[in-house]
Amino acid sequence: MSFFYDFFLYLYLDNRQPMTNLLKECLVCGKPLKGRSDKKFCNDYCRNVYNNQAKAVDNGIIRNINNALKKNRQILASLIETEKITVRIHRDQLVNLGFQFKWHTHLYTTQKGATYYFCYDYGYLPTSGDGCLVVRGKETR
Ligand SMILES: [Zn+2]
Repeated sequence: MSFFYDFFLYLYLDNRQPMTNLLKECLVCGKPLKGRSDKKFCNDYCRNVYNNQAKAVDNGIIRNINNALKKNRQILASLIETEKITVRIHRDQLVNLGFQFKWHTHLYTTQKGATYYFCYDYGYLPTSGDGCLVVRGKETR
């Protein structure tokens, strides 16, 4: 019994080693990697390329969210005329203007428990019937 076990273990180990070596390739250029099994890149150049790409993706994500937040603020600001402090609007109208409800910079909860969603200095309070009460933050008044 022990012989067969050792025999199969030998086959398993013998097959496994070349398989893992075959799968190990530089994440950037695809060259086969030699040396340490935790290596991901063939050289510093490929490591830098990879890290710069990762950074560029991060920057792209941040830029997209910042742009969405700025657009949200611009939409809210455009609704409030100079003499008005609040405006009521249906949620769908905001969506039609390009407002993205998932992005906001901070929340403000009143003592009565109403939570306003702010995009910088402009915000809204969700009201009944899918309405929104758009407000200008105190910091601009
Ligand atoms: Zn490489």
